[in-house]
Amino acid sequence: MDEVETLVIGAGVVGLALAAALAARGREVLICEAEEAFGTGISSRNSEVIHAGIYYPAGSLKARLCVEGRRRLYDWCAAHGVAARKTAKLIVAAEPAELEGLDALAAKAAANGVEGMRRLSGAEARAMEPALRAEGALLSPETGIVDSHGFMLSLLGAAEERGAMLALGAPVLSLAPREGGFLVEVGGAEPMRLLAREVVNAAGLAAPRLAPGGSGPPMLMAKGSYFRLEGRAPFSRLIYPAPVVGGLGVHLTLDMGGQARFGPDVEWIEREDYAVDPARGESFYAAIRRYWPCLPDGALKPDYAGIRPKLAGPEAGGAADFRIDGPEAHGLPGYLGLYGIESPGLTSALAIAEEGAARLMRR
Ligand SMILES: Cc1cc2nc3c(=O)[nH]c(=O)nc-3n(C[C@H](O)[C@H](O)[C@H](O)COP(=O)(O)OP(=O)(O)OC[C@H]3O[C@@H](n4cnc5c(N)ncnc54)[C@H](O)[C@@H]3O)c2cc1C
Repeated sequence: MDEVETLVIGAGVVGLALAAALAARGREVLICEAEEAFGTGISSRNSEVIHAGIYYPAGSLKARLCVEGRRRLYDWCAAHGVAARKTAKLIVAAEPAELEGLDALAAKAAANGVEGMRRLSGAEARAMEPALRAEGALLSPETGIVDSHGFMLSLLGAAEERGAMLALGAPVLSLAPREGGFLVEVGGAEPMRLLAREVVNAAGLAAPRLAPGGSGPPMLMAKGSYFRLEGRAPFSRLIYPAPVVGGLGVHLTLDMGGQARFGPDVEWIEREDYAVDPARGESFYAAIRRYWPCLPDGALKPDYAGIRPKLAGPEAGGAADFRIDGPEAHGLPGYLGLYGIESPGLTSALAIAEEGAARLMRR
């Protein structure tokens, strides 16, 4: 039977960041990815926003790792030639009743150590973005966008430079604790059995299902659909409404090529399904026209969808913290399970990797 020191399951942004962090610490790393390419899961079905760290409860992993991960991500992109841009973002109160919500967000951002946040009057917001309808806004200058594929490619490069190997089309079928490690069954065209001394389970939506001994948490799924805007966007910053249960509200983001898209909405689902139902466009028009009344009829086209791995359902507010379960959480030496890595997981990836590597290696 083949033996490997550290097996990483899943080549999304989290698995790749952990592979790079562990390889940099001298581990011999094998990454097994079920699909025929890296980064085709949640990591390529998101908004590609570098979040500032505003929304999350103070002291949570999300708050700490988003702020730290964001700072690391901008530095990483500059050092590795990955396209990223600080676009800034406005969180908009479209009605006077939403102004209080902005104050609450400003207080959270301050508690989380987010730099540069500024409260704007409606007139100040409209002076920046004349197409907006706004009673007031919060300006987040640290928010930006990143080429997520380029980021993942650079992580893979960093891991491979330190000797890590990536096996594609290699789905992990099962994982069982054994003396000195884990017995791992891998399927695909070249099935294999491995003995891995350490296992990092970064399989995204599949992570709880693969957790050894049922040590993973129950997980729900919340789909988010996007619609792209035909024609030029009248905004140069990202525009967000006040947040809603389970997500951040239907917001406008821009990709590195300047294409504007709206989304993601929130739809609780039972089975993985990435089709975008054109009928959902109706609710998008209503949500967007609250802050952009001049959105033309017929300007939105179905684009793509992503699925959030949720550890809390809608009745619990749809928000739970990241779970980075090292041996102290489940009692299995050498096992690290990553669960519920929804937004801001892309922003936080480099900090999640540092935290995860430290928890895995703590004896
Ligand atoms: C709609 C949406 C919008 C978002 N927007 C943002 C944003 O703007 N900014 C931000 O910071 N974050 C955002 N996020 C969150 C971010 O995208 C995720 O936190 C991050 O991509 C999670 O990466 P991952 O590596 O954990 O998961 P994934 O990218 O899904 O990687 C898991 C990998 O494991 C593989 N896999 C699964 N099962 C197996 C198996 N049995 N064996 C081997 N491999 C397996 C999968 O194929 C996949 O490649 C968003 C998420 C969603 C859903």
